[in-house]
Formats: sequence, structure tokens, C-alpha cells
Amino acid sequence: MSKDYAVYYPQDEMTTFLLPVTSGCLYNKCAFCSMYKGEKYREVPFSEVEMQLINGYTYTERVFLTGADPLSIGFDRMKRLLDLINKYLPYCACVASYASIKSISGYSVEELSILHDAGLRLLYIGFETGRDDILKLMNKDHTVNGAVKQAKKLNAAKLSFDSIIMYGIAGKGKAADNATETAKMVNRFFTNKVITMNLTVFHGTELNNMVQRGDFTPPDKTERLLEIRTLLENLQPKQPMVFDTTHPTNIIRIKGTLPQDKERLIYEVADRIGISKQTK
Ligand code: SF4
Repeated sequence: MSKDYAVYYPQDEMTTFLLPVTSGCLYNKCAFCSMYKGEKYREVPFSEVEMQLINGYTYTERVFLTGADPLSIGFDRMKRLLDLINKYLPYCACVASYASIKSISGYSVEELSILHDAGLRLLYIGFETGRDDILKLMNKDHTVNGAVKQAKKLNAAKLSFDSIIMYGIAGKGKAADNATETAKMVNRFFTNKVITMNLTVFHGTELNNMVQRGDFTPPDKTERLLEIRTLLENLQPKQPMVFDTTHPTNIIRIKGTLPQDKERLIYEVADRIGISKQTK
């Protein structure tokens, strides 16, 4: 396989064995995303996957499947892939992957459960926001209710997932409402972790065109911090859930477990808002 393609992985998987499954993004239409622009979607042939595994370290304990949405290859290929991983890396206890709401919708709870039992233990899913109008504006391929439905399927299959949400995505003046609605969405299912990303306007994206036309104004730093605080205030997980803003795009780096660290995290954001107001 040509190495001339983009490879992205979550920061928690920085030291994980990376196994290419797809390249490019099958959807590739989210307004804010520049990651796979101009790159053709491709599924990596099993012969190439097998070669990577044969050359892998036998005692590998964790594997991350690379590609924008490896679950888009479908159940039969996912199961075959996990069986190959088990064959060549018998000590692997966790296979992790990005996944989209759309691709998960193609799996039944039973199929997700089979994949879990075959070693798929963690998904990273871009929910982005709990507002349908913003999902539509950003041309995401799902709705809030659709996302909750797929999240509940994963809960039923006991397949853990981290939820990626993006602050700033609703634009100037809408951050607090976006945070409230996003928290309401997350409160409807169980997720290991909320990972926040900070909206960035990348060159060559539809979002950049919207900004240039004056159709979208990103919120300022203080409004974004208030959005994080409002999100924290409204998150009410029914089981311990990590809240993590340490991804490099973020304007504040905090991490803790809800509910027990809630007050401390809110204080840290409030403290930063005070500082940012003084230095603005
Ligand atoms: S955000 Fe994900 S699904 Fe959307 S275009 Fe980018 S890689 Fe594809």
C-alpha cells in the first residue's frame, strides 16, 4: 500500500500499534473537516493487513485501526479482521477504532456484541453537538436522535466508546445553548469519556467559505470557555465518565472524572475565564 496518505489517531493511542484498515473518508463532507480532502477512500486489502500483522510484535497488547471510519467496511470484514488480529497477536486485549454514527447504524446489537467478544473494545465517535440545526449546518451525516439510538445500541452490546464533541461549532452567541443541548444528548447514554475539540476553521473547508461569506462567525475565546463550563455544569453521567480537554486544539487543558471532579473542573474553567477577561 502506498504510504502517501494521511494517518490520524487519538492522542490516547499515541503508543498503540497502528493497523491501517481504510484510507481517506467514505463520507468526506463535514463542513469543518480538512483531514482527508482530496484523498480517495480505499479499503486496505486483507493481504496487506495480514502482512502488517505477520510483521507485528507478537506480544502487542493493543491495536488501533486507522482510517476515518474503519467500521464502514461492514460486519463480515470487521469480524474477519478481528480474527486475524487474534491469530497473529494473541496477547492483544483491546482493539480500538474511530467510528461514525452512520457506520454503526449498519450493525445490529448482536453484531456489535460479537465484535466486542472478538476483541473490539473501544470506539472513538464524533458526536460534535447535541443540536440538529448545527449538525445540519456542518453537514454531519446524522441527527441527535440518530446518534443517541446508535449510542444506546453500543451500550446494549457493552461496547465502550469515547464521545468527541466540538465547542465553538454553533458559532458566536450560541455557545451556551449548544453546551446545554450537547450535555442533554450525552446524558441519554453511557460513554467512557467526553473528549472535547475546539472548533478550528481550516483552509479549504466549507466552513472557511461560510466564514469568508459572513455566514458563520466563530465565538471568541471567552464564549468558548463559557461553553465548556456550561457543558460541565449540565453533564450528569449515571456512571463515572472522564471529561478530557487535553487534545492539542483546546484552549484549556483539564481532565477529571465526573461526577466527583465536577466542581474542581468548573473552578479551573471559571478561573481561566477570569484571567482571560483581565488580559483581553
Ligand atoms: S469529520 Fe470524520 S466523517 Fe466527517 S469528513 Fe472528517 S473524517 Fe470524514
